Amino acid sequence: MKRLIDRPIIIAGGGIGGLSAALALAKRGMPSLVLEQAAEFKEVGAGIQLGPNCWRALRELGVEDAAKKVAVFPEALVMMDSITSEQVVSIPLGGFEKRFGAPYALAHRADLLNVFLDACKAEAKITLETSRHVKSFADDGENVHVATSEGHVYDTPAFIGADGLWSTVRGQLIGDGRPRVSGHISYRSVLRAEDVPEYLRRWEMVLWAGPKCHMVHYPLRGGELFNLVATFHSNRYEEGWNAYGDPAELHEHYKETCADVKLMLSKIAAWRMWVLCDREPIKMWSKGRVTLTGDAAHPMLQYLAQGAGMAMEDALCLAKCLDESDSVEAAFEAYPLKRYLRTGRVQLAARLYGEFYHADGVRRELRNEYVKHASYEGLAWLYDQP
Ligand SMILES: Cc1cc2nc3c(=O)[nH]c(=O)nc-3n(C[C@H](O)[C@H](O)[C@H](O)COP(=O)(O)OP(=O)(O)OC[C@H]3O[C@@H](n4cnc5c(N)ncnc54)[C@H](O)[C@@H]3O)c2cc1C
Repeated sequence: MKRLIDRPIIIAGGGIGGLSAALALAKRGMPSLVLEQAAEFKEVGAGIQLGPNCWRALRELGVEDAAKKVAVFPEALVMMDSITSEQVVSIPLGGFEKRFGAPYALAHRADLLNVFLDACKAEAKITLETSRHVKSFADDGENVHVATSEGHVYDTPAFIGADGLWSTVRGQLIGDGRPRVSGHISYRSVLRAEDVPEYLRRWEMVLWAGPKCHMVHYPLRGGELFNLVATFHSNRYEEGWNAYGDPAELHEHYKETCADVKLMLSKIAAWRMWVLCDREPIKMWSKGRVTLTGDAAHPMLQYLAQGAGMAMEDALCLAKCLDESDSVEAAFEAYPLKRYLRTGRVQLAARLYGEFYHADGVRRELRNEYVKHASYEGLAWLYDQP
């Protein structure tokens, strides 16, 4: 069908989802135009975990080598009990290549987005435009007319909303209201390695599970930086991302945790806060010549560290459907049907993992007993080829 796509497919949003979609389309010979609302393509200053399914997607998108250059390859996934300070489990990562055909790695988000951006800039079939806030679209059955708040109007044979959790495209396409506020808040910061106590500078992805809270830390940029994320239950709600967090509220929520957790948290003066939201899974997120990808289609809590991974998998599936279908409409109908059970499972499982990490009392003891037996096979549903 790609022969029929002679004009650029428009993608709203230039995050990991939008840029992956542009690359996946280009790999199959289809041109695209990415419209990003911000003045520059930018990610937040924080880390991202990339499981083996993400690495297989990066490989297919043609950016695996560049991504490896900016990644840190930890030795293990570790869970600590943040009340007793004991290690609950350590899953060595050395066997991941053999079992899953790809590694587990960590990267600075800005570095990863630059990998995507460089690849897009090097690709003649991709055009990138910034300061373009998509405000509406109209599908007349042959073309989609896309309008921006800056007064631009574009015509495209197919339109993809990759505009994230608060997606404008989803608002018009599905109209299912605002995302669900989970009652969980994340504070994020990045520490310089010299500010992290030496015994806590572990070459591992470490999760400290605690009552109604947890903390994650891991190295970035060859160990120069450490990513720190503290997540806890809170009724406080402030819409949107990237607001400043209140350290007093944070410390109050971690008062039952051990000295190591408190020590790490005390190292940060300035936090950014995220109000964590998701949605119920849906089965169909396309209509006619318009579809969604990534967080716009299936926003999820971060407890399985898979939002970006799902967006990359979407991109590859979407491009394949367009390549192999007889019409845009048929491709856009087929694509969510191939994806929704997987993305829905990750959306729902992420909620359960949140409960699991934040367990208290008897639940906490049972959780620790269960996690001790964690195996590669227990992760296979997520990391194996979808
Ligand atoms: C605390 C936290 C930790 C996480 N950790 C991980 C992790 O370790 N691993 C992982 O895989 N995922 C993780 N995630 C999830 C991951 O960050 C997201 O799922 C992923 O970034 C979604 O990508 P996206 O491109 O769909 O959306 P976004 O990254 O939100 O990108 C959307 C883009 O669209 C632009 N945009 C929005 N509206 C418009 C508009 N109307 N017109 C034009 N442009 C628009 C935005 O400016 C933005 O650039 C985490 C999330 C959180 C909150």
